[in-house]
Amino acid sequence: MQRHGGFKDPRNPAGQGEEQEIGRKAVGPESMKAVPIAISSRPQNHSMPTSGPLIDSFGRVHTDLRLSVTDRCNLRCVYCMPEEGVVWLPRSEILTFEEIERIALVARGLGIDSVRLTGGEPLVRASVIDLVARLGRIGFSDLSMTTNGSGLVRLARGLAAAGLSRVNISCDSLKPQRFAEIRRRGALSTVFEAMDAAEEAGLTPVKINVVVMAGVNDDEILDLAAFARDTRRVVRFIEFMPLDAGQSWERSKVVPGEAILALINDVWPLEPASERSVDAAPADRYRFVDGCGEIGVITSVTRAFCGSCNRLRLTADGAIRNCLFANDEHPVRDLLRSGGTDAELAMLLRQAVWAKRAGHGINDPSFLRPTRSMSMIGG
Ligand code: SAM
Ligand code: SF4
Repeated sequence: MQRHGGFKDPRNPAGQGEEQEIGRKAVGPESMKAVPIAISSRPQNHSMPTSGPLIDSFGRVHTDLRLSVTDRCNLRCVYCMPEEGVVWLPRSEILTFEEIERIALVARGLGIDSVRLTGGEPLVRASVIDLVARLGRIGFSDLSMTTNGSGLVRLARGLAAAGLSRVNISCDSLKPQRFAEIRRRGALSTVFEAMDAAEEAGLTPVKINVVVMAGVNDDEILDLAAFARDTRRVVRFIEFMPLDAGQSWERSKVVPGEAILALINDVWPLEPASERSVDAAPADRYRFVDGCGEIGVITSVTRAFCGSCNRLRLTADGAIRNCLFANDEHPVRDLLRSGGTDAELAMLLRQAVWAKRAGHGINDPSFLRPTRSMSMIGG
């Protein structure tokens, strides 16, 4: 496969990432430079609040919950799962819908106002529409899902009717053969149909997640940007993270978001559609200056967004994780199943968030990959 070259971030020529937020190389006009966010020191008061917003010891208020509904998946993407020999969690260890609903209710009471369902593949969980309806009734301002799309033609309307607001659909190539090589199962045509079905059901804006890997699909960046312009779907380019079950991740396989932006900006000038200082979302959003749509870059490796992170995660087997890259988990399922009260559940959520580190540490020499890979955590 063809590989592009020549994109170097002058601020970061060795490809080393930063844990703290720093300004970015200008892509397009000067106004595109991000405002730095620093979280270098802990607040004076080190005691965890037991009321008020869900806050960590660096003052980051948490309002977003990434909720994994299953570790199972019908695909085997190279950057996520092994091709063979996957051992699923026993069903008895997976949270029931009632348990998920209860945690979500407690989280809502702590100020969580957006929830994204993920997995594994959320649409392979039986009766997932029932879960969406339960969460919809709680009343989050945003209830979305990340999916590989394979079940969407069948389920999109039901999901929308149950209260799902929108979907992110993963699609790493516009070439059928390459798509098959990356995802190992499933067909590109199904994913295109899924995008149409999502739009027809009103699950908009449809966003397209692309994991960019050097030497694998980075020669399609401009094609994918053109796809964003033609369809007005928001294509989000995600840096490959060290969370693949096959442990084949290497820094040389990461295509920096800066390089992606520079490449696209040369052909279709971009301008920022978000400011990191006010937008906690991990994607830096850019719109095409000529008004033909929007793209995003998720620079988890080369320019971490930890400084504005507002997210916590619930794994399918009921562990709270305060970071994708955390090595410790807070087992909320055990508390639930041993008769824990809502107040105790709330306290566990508070403690999990309070324990969050300043940053994910991917670029520290001492960084250890999490023992669980992406599909087990819930990406
Ligand atoms: N199965 C669904 C899907 O593929 O969209 C949801 C779960 S998947 C783990 C969530 C997102 O994580 C997808 O967009 C996927 O492309 C992304 N992802 C998985 N492994 C990754 C990795 N090692 N680095 C970066 N993104 C990854
Ligand atoms: Fe499954 Fe999503 Fe992981 Fe691909 S990225 S293997 S679709 S969970």
